[in-house]
Amino acid sequence: MICGLLGEKLEHSYSPAIHKILGYYTYSLFEKSPEELEDFLKNGTFTGINVTIPYKKAVIPYCSALSPVAQKLGAVNILVRQPDGSLIGHNSDYFGFETMLDNSGLQVGKKKVLVLGSGGAANTAIAVLEEKGAQVVTISRTGSNHYGNLSFHSDAAVIVNATPVGMFPNAGEAPLSLSHFPRLEGVLDAIYNPARTKLLLDAEARGIVAMNGLWMLVAQAKEASEWFSGKKIPNKTIEDIYHSLQRQMENIILIGMPGCGKSAVGKLVSQITGKKFVDTDAVIAERAGCTIPEIFANQGEAAFRKLESQVLSDFGKKSGLVIATGGGCVTQPENYPLLHQNGRLFLIERRLDKLATQGRPLSENGKLEEMYRIRKPLYDAFADYQIENQGTVAKAAEKILRIWEEI
Ligand code: NAP
Repeated sequence: MICGLLGEKLEHSYSPAIHKILGYYTYSLFEKSPEELEDFLKNGTFTGINVTIPYKKAVIPYCSALSPVAQKLGAVNILVRQPDGSLIGHNSDYFGFETMLDNSGLQVGKKKVLVLGSGGAANTAIAVLEEKGAQVVTISRTGSNHYGNLSFHSDAAVIVNATPVGMFPNAGEAPLSLSHFPRLEGVLDAIYNPARTKLLLDAEARGIVAMNGLWMLVAQAKEASEWFSGKKIPNKTIEDIYHSLQRQMENIILIGMPGCGKSAVGKLVSQITGKKFVDTDAVIAERAGCTIPEIFANQGEAAFRKLESQVLSDFGKKSGLVIATGGGCVTQPENYPLLHQNGRLFLIERRLDKLATQGRPLSENGKLEEMYRIRKPLYDAFADYQIENQGTVAKAAEKILRIWEEI
């Protein structure tokens, strides 16, 4: 069975990884230009395909029939080839968003929900939300409700981001500030790369529900797979694939005092998980063309911190890495979102008398205790998990992996 994904640019797609788990069929990426579309749809030898940007509407004229959901949304993200060669169009994004909303635990009935954007994902979210009885307001750059009059909607309970703002590689951008919405209960973001957009990081910081679009992506893929193969797949599979992808895509980030074992533990975790290892201090030295003590001596700590934040920005937005950070990265609060957007932070704790100090500019001269007193609250504020590393490297790595298996 030949299945796959049709779109114009597909380099960052997670779909092949998802369908590899879901079904016994080949799942290929079909990158087609608008000029190639007609020939592909009429003569392509696929059994069933997903359709993504910008072809969800463009494929409709080539369908001999549409499912009721595809008809309602006016968009198709699944095409299935019939024995007579004709195409049936369906839309599984509806099921995808509904599953995401249900998993968020948010109750939207009779509440005001702002949907940002007016494209395909927004239409899908609106259809699901209205079905659940929400009072939906679309915020569009060109509509009557726009980003300049958000104060009319300060009573919003939920925000759904259905714009591409904040998506890789433009992480760090947000379509609006959550400060306008004192009664907000949660934010759902259709984006899944990075795992936490700025909007979701802001929601997390406020302690409200923050969910990315990975549930939606996996759930729509499950329904697509059922259409391709004709076989029912249990909903529990969505949860299993979601967690497996999270483990695969998110970065494991190690923070802690200089010499606490971040590099040694990180290398072992990298070996076991198959995730690529990055030592940010090594990258900084390579980019600067000199050692870290030389950067401190010749350019000062402020210049080093600037270089460090740039490196954290570059690697923090990537996926599937083990990143060992420099001990002082927590002194710059702006480094936290750079690291957490796509990763979970493990604080490696080691007794001060066991810390390695050689070649570490800020650890020499017996100032470790004072440094730890100042930094400990900063480490705690950055850390998602704390790991004691008083024994072997293998033991510390094992503790991290045990936690990782549970996410
Ligand atoms: P789309 O059809 O291109 O629509 C995006 C909408 O976002 C536009 O209609 C526009 O609305 C708004 N927008 C675009 N650029 C903007 C900007 N710079 N600032 C503010 N608003 C902007 O795209 P889509 O298919 O709806 O996808 C939207 C997002 O959802 C993408 O990030 C996509 O990856 C994601 N998505 C995820 C899933 C999933 O399974 N998780 C499924 C589908 C889509 P206005 O012009 O009205 O402002």
